[in-house]
Amino acid sequence: MVEVVLARTEALRVCYGRVAALHDVSVTIREGQIVTVVGANGAGKTTLLCALMGLLPHTGRIEFPQWPTAALTVGERIRAGVCLVPETRDLFGTMPVEDNLRLGGFSRRRDKAYSASRTLEEVYTLFPRLKERRRQSANTLSGGERQMLALGRALMAKPKLLMLDEPSLGLAPLVTKEIIAAIAGLRDRNVSILLIEQNARAALAVADYAYVMETGTVTLEGPADAVARDQRVVESYLGAR
Ligand code: ATP
Repeated sequence: MVEVVLARTEALRVCYGRVAALHDVSVTIREGQIVTVVGANGAGKTTLLCALMGLLPHTGRIEFPQWPTAALTVGERIRAGVCLVPETRDLFGTMPVEDNLRLGGFSRRRDKAYSASRTLEEVYTLFPRLKERRRQSANTLSGGERQMLALGRALMAKPKLLMLDEPSLGLAPLVTKEIIAAIAGLRDRNVSILLIEQNARAALAVADYAYVMETGTVTLEGPADAVARDQRVVESYLGAR
């Protein structure tokens, strides 16, 4: 099978003022894969996602080989199918669930082949709970439902590369399981995923490929199952069951 590269960084460096949050980071995200980045707080994971989204100045290379423009703007990245779901989820709290979802499709409004209602039905099939609560305002949802809504809103834009920052943050273990299972299901719907997750065990169990980041640099990479067996990873990120 030919492997298609969706996104790639090479020798990526991002600084906040004089402090380098990323230095010499090279990662590749291939089509049809869930790629996870494991690392301690402050390792630079969120910075990597924001740089890939085009939100941060950087040196080194960020490439999206499937899309022609060399330096895509944030808007071009979104229209090309790159989507970031931030840790903060950034829902429109006073708006109903369904309006939040419909706003997710805004970037596709000029796309003739796009149908908002069809995509909405697809999202409701994936998350029936959102359909039940479609008239409820976002800030009255439970933590798990809010994350479903953040994911659903991203899916309304028909992303090809979905970048998820800590989707299980603050969620109970059972809900985390549900969210991770939904993420695994997206891969079967042809959405490639870059997943950042404090719950390294859950992320490595579902991912195809993994990177370990420490203080702004990649210290280990490989197939997720091999990374999950690495002694240093077990000691530092997986701990006892
Ligand atoms: P966490 O898991 O805690 O979210 P992370 O791996 O996502 O951590 P980043 O949020 O990318 O890490 O932060 C990497 C480093 O950059 C940290 O040392 C952080 O303090 C610093 N940093 C992040 N954002 C800024 C900012 N806006 N200004 C200055 N420093 C920042």
